[in-house]
Amino acid sequence: MKYLPTIGLEIHVELKTKTKMFCGCKNDSLETKPNTNVCPICLGHPGTLPVPNIEAVKSVLKLGLALQADLAEKSKFDRKSYFYPDLPKGYQISQYDEPLVRNGELLGVRVKRIHLEEDVGRLLHEIPALSRSHGAKDDERLKTSDKATYVDFNRAGVPLMELVTEPDIKSGEQAVAFAKMLRLILRYLRISDADMEKGQMRVEANISVRPEGQDEFGTKVEVKNLNSFKSVGDAVNFEIRRQTEALESGGKVFQETRGWDQNKKATFSQRSKEEAKDYRYFPEPDIPSIDLQETSLINLEELRRAIPELPLEKKSRLMKEYGLVEVQADLMIEDGDLADFFEETISEAEGDDDIDSSEKQRFTELAFNYLTSDLKGFMNSQGIGFEELKISPENLADLADLIFNGEITSRVAKDLIPEMQKTGLDPRQIVKEKGLEQVSDEEIIEQAVNKVVAENPGAVADYKAGKKTALQFLIGKTMAELKGKGHPGKIGEKLEKQL
Ligand code: ADP
Ligand code: MG
Ligand code: ZN
Repeated sequence: MKYLPTIGLEIHVELKTKTKMFCGCKNDSLETKPNTNVCPICLGHPGTLPVPNIEAVKSVLKLGLALQADLAEKSKFDRKSYFYPDLPKGYQISQYDEPLVRNGELLGVRVKRIHLEEDVGRLLHEIPALSRSHGAKDDERLKTSDKATYVDFNRAGVPLMELVTEPDIKSGEQAVAFAKMLRLILRYLRISDADMEKGQMRVEANISVRPEGQDEFGTKVEVKNLNSFKSVGDAVNFEIRRQTEALESGGKVFQETRGWDQNKKATFSQRSKEEAKDYRYFPEPDIPSIDLQETSLINLEELRRAIPELPLEKKSRLMKEYGLVEVQADLMIEDGDLADFFEETISEAEGDDDIDSSEKQRFTELAFNYLTSDLKGFMNSQGIGFEELKISPENLADLADLIFNGEITSRVAKDLIPEMQKTGLDPRQIVKEKGLEQVSDEEIIEQAVNKVVAENPGAVADYKAGKKTALQFLIGKTMAELKGKGHPGKIGEKLEKQL
């Protein structure tokens, strides 16, 4: 019997607005001193009045536009009640039946809704017995455990967006691709850095399997605390296997919440559905509902115009405009600075009239390779980013042009990159000053070949005995003789003729 997996994601994202969701406190994820950015509103004091942050509302609407979704005409906030020490007021302000956004789509997965809520505080569980040093060990109340838990409310009230997909996903890989593309869109829209390791993006996966031929979905399990893309993929695939095996062996799947154990690479039961709480949602009486058609605070046309070119659009444009293949375009959309550099390099080169249109593709390919492997490799090895780069797109275009026209060898090109960074000079100038032009002169090459042949009788004999690799060795020797500037084709030709 074959089992078909079904997956739906619930993704929380911290928005990077200047201030929190319902008060004027700073929304600063880098603040390390606990309880610095707090006020009576985000601490949940009774009698305080929340005022929604319009920037946060706009951020969610922008994402809605980016996902071709329906923006609500009317939207309201609701209270979601539950008790936990990270939420002193006893309820979280969220959105229940009138979310800001519905019915979107991304990579073939339907997005059911996107709503806005507030993040909660952070609990810090103490490990050593700190209380003892304060002479508190005699306190009866600390007997059961002498560890303390502290609460930091800096995160309480930070705008949190929740996106829920329809159960359209069929594998761990597809779940990861969706989450990665969402992160990229959030970054392009500049509404969140969506770094999973920092908890700015939190993915929960709902997973079920059903026997082939059965229409209704199986019982779902929700997996929480996935803090990397890798965990998302691994946890989903683990659950698919676990549930399939349970059903195959005549068992059943229980509806429950499970956690992900990074070390064991396995999910574990956290709580069952029976314990699931009733949130007693009801409309937040302190916040008027938002009429998106009427409000003067939000101009939908303006929002629409503020949407930049998005990753998927950019991908297809790069493929069409520059003839890039999919993996190349994917590399570009991941890194906006790299893509900008590439496009500027090509447009610099387009000004040159020595490249005719039929050769344009070959040049583009060359420039792409020099940018993504040689230049990027150099930058990585030096630990520098595009801000610190002294090499301009024009410089790279010139370098590619030198190689393209056979004026320098690829060996010399490699050495030119650090030199360009050091001096900030144009590669043509460096080539001229240092005499690095490719040597194609027949006589000079022949002299070098003669010398190498005379000095390496062993390799010559090997080659004559049929050992083809000996030729590569001799070419290398000749190239070294010519200080890396010899025309590789001509060297090979001359050598073969000699031998
Ligand atoms: P709940 O009310 O239990 O939270 P929802 O209908 O809100 O369930 O769905 C929560 C998430 O679970 C959504 O992402 C949805 O796509 C997904 N989901 C719903 N049913 C299933 C199922 N049978 N298998 C896998 N995922 C599911
Ligand atoms: Mg739910
Ligand atoms: Zn506050």
